Amino acid sequence: MKELEEKIRLEGKPLAGDVLNVTSFLNQQIDIAFLLRAAKEFYRLFQDENITKILTLEASGIPVATLTASVFGVPLVYVKKSRSSNLGSEVYTSRVRSYTQNRVFDITVGKDYLKDSDTVLIIDDFLANGAAANGLVDLIRQAGASLAGIGIVIEKGFQKGGDKLREKGIRVESLAIIEKISEDGIVFRGEES
Ligand code: 5GP
Repeated sequence: MKELEEKIRLEGKPLAGDVLNVTSFLNQQIDIAFLLRAAKEFYRLFQDENITKILTLEASGIPVATLTASVFGVPLVYVKKSRSSNLGSEVYTSRVRSYTQNRVFDITVGKDYLKDSDTVLIIDDFLANGAAANGLVDLIRQAGASLAGIGIVIEKGFQKGGDKLREKGIRVESLAIIEKISEDGIVFRGEES
């Protein structure tokens, strides 16, 4: 998405540890009009897949996943990063290391919300090493549901999580793929010299 690449160049702030700060439109202040266009782009890409649920991991994936679920007209299920007592014991869990917090979480979803009859589209804000995405794929596998693919707003291609998922045969569609972040600026996939 050209508009997203321009927004990242204008508003993105590189931080230590190869983290890109996009709190002006994606991670704290939310640019709803822009994220709705991103959601419509996910719809264009996955509209023929008979999606029944959008799945994301709390918290930063929720805004874009909510808008995407609204465009598809299906429920959003957001997976919790802790065991919530109101989910009871009927849950699927998987272990995920958080990229930005460098902590391990037992991610959890109620069995009522992921069924073997579901066709699921995973939506998230970022894809780095792929830990979050792999955890969500694991929950879908435990439920016996079908995975239609993964839609990502910003993939950091140099961290290889996305390419490893593609090598496994999973369809990963990212609206922008960053290949390099340096003092000279940001290079997107396809722009490398
Ligand atoms: P992964 O699990 O693929 O290594 O990392 C993806 C998750 O970590 C995303 O859900 C996102 O919340 C967070 N994350 C990874 N890299 C970045 C980054 O550069 N900036 C921000 N804001 N979040 C990131």
